[in-house]
Amino acid sequence: MDRICDKKDCTGCFACYNICPKKAIEMKEEKLGHIYPEINLDKCINCNLCKKICPSNKNFQLREPLKAYAMKSKDEEIRKNSTSGGAATVFALAIIEKGGIVYGANNIENGKFNFIRINKKEKVEKIKGSKYVQCYINDMYIRAKEDLISGVYVLFIGTPCQIAGLKSFLGKDYDKLITIDLICHGVPSQRLLMNEIEEMVEDVNKVDKILFRTQEKTGFNLNLYEDGKLKISKEMKESCYYKGFMRALFYRESCYTCKYATQSRVSDITIGDFWGLKENSRFYKERSKGVSLILPLTEKGLKFIKECKKNMELEEREIMEAVYGNSQLRHSSNKPKKYNKFIKIYEKQGLKKAYLKTRTVKQILKDNKTIMNLYERVKGK
Ligand SMILES: Cc1cc2nc3c(=O)[nH]c(=O)nc-3n(C[C@H](O)[C@H](O)[C@H](O)COP(=O)(O)OP(=O)(O)OC[C@H]3O[C@@H](n4cnc5c(N)ncnc54)[C@H](O)[C@@H]3O)c2cc1C
Ligand code: SF4
Ligand code: SF4
Ligand code: SF4
Repeated sequence: MDRICDKKDCTGCFACYNICPKKAIEMKEEKLGHIYPEINLDKCINCNLCKKICPSNKNFQLREPLKAYAMKSKDEEIRKNSTSGGAATVFALAIIEKGGIVYGANNIENGKFNFIRINKKEKVEKIKGSKYVQCYINDMYIRAKEDLISGVYVLFIGTPCQIAGLKSFLGKDYDKLITIDLICHGVPSQRLLMNEIEEMVEDVNKVDKILFRTQEKTGFNLNLYEDGKLKISKEMKESCYYKGFMRALFYRESCYTCKYATQSRVSDITIGDFWGLKENSRFYKERSKGVSLILPLTEKGLKFIKECKKNMELEEREIMEAVYGNSQLRHSSNKPKKYNKFIKIYEKQGLKKAYLKTRTVKQILKDNKTIMNLYERVKGK
């Protein structure tokens, strides 16, 4: 068997890994630590199932939003601890209340970010918050299918390529399945993040939580916890990882041509930040506390949002307001010109050197406060 799909299009969604009847596929780290499937030819029986279900080999039916809502959780605690307005948690709690199962991206455990299956309210805390790194699905599509066959509600929250992977793996819709995708501008690898974490603490295995956005939601920082207590915090401007993430410097190849970065979507509901919210919104003055954008794409999604209404404040907005405010609803992230140079330096000299040696002049100025102040003073004269 040759490649499952064109490597540049492989999103690392794990659908092939889940479908293989011979467990012949392993996900292995390659350049920049991004994971790709590797087939063990001794086990492979050439059934071609992996190729058939790979979402990168087919065109998905994408749907236009039916409506757009600005949203905040009525529970201020939920909103405070979430990345945006707390939509994901409100939806997760509603499914668990119905006796259902939620699949989402866990925070760090033993140095890894993996998807988990949860069925208890207290566990929702584990999936709360954006992890700005690629989280591994492992065998969670198989588990979700088992749950669906057993007849319970299943909510699966992930990046659009992961929802495409799930749908492709399942091969049909289930009445009790609700899928939610995040607006997504791309993912760095776990190895890149660990390079940064290793510089911040002595033992990465002791880190039991990482928060990427706290305090004011418009501010981004890396906060590492040990035994549930904040151990160390790094502002974005001090972090090569975070600055690289924001500049789309080292995402997976597939993120730069992402077919899901459009206003037509793959799930029942899309959630994100309501960037670009206009002044006439009743949430406008509270943007720094986090306001979610919710786009229902299917009648099932719309019905579920209405069911959850008692726990959220919703305001209907123009769909185009959301689309104009959020570039990832229009196009994928641009691949930086220095992507290949970054890879070359990174493989020999590591994250920090690669970051420093691939900055543009504008970025060097931005990174250096003294030079920047001087530059602005000169420019002002
Ligand atoms: C890599 C990445 C890039 C993003 N880019 C954008 C963007 O460009 N524009 C925008 O508007 N929003 C973006 N978001 C989404 C945004 O950061 C919030 O996650 C989203 O608004 C949900 O916030 P919340 O308050 O509803 O829930 P939160 O409590 O923040 O819950 C987040 C939910 O997302 C899931 N999740 C978290 N991290 C990951 C991950 N790495 N992979 C898969 N699932 C994950 C969790 O399972 C959880 O259910 C991005 C998120 C990620 C993870
Ligand atoms: S199924 Fe997913 S992980 Fe496997 S080759 Fe296709 S895109 Fe890559
Ligand atoms: S061809 Fe079949 S057996 Fe071989 S890796 Fe793909 S799914 Fe597995
Ligand atoms: S940008 Fe696209 S390919 Fe990359 S993680 Fe997000 S949804 Fe997947």
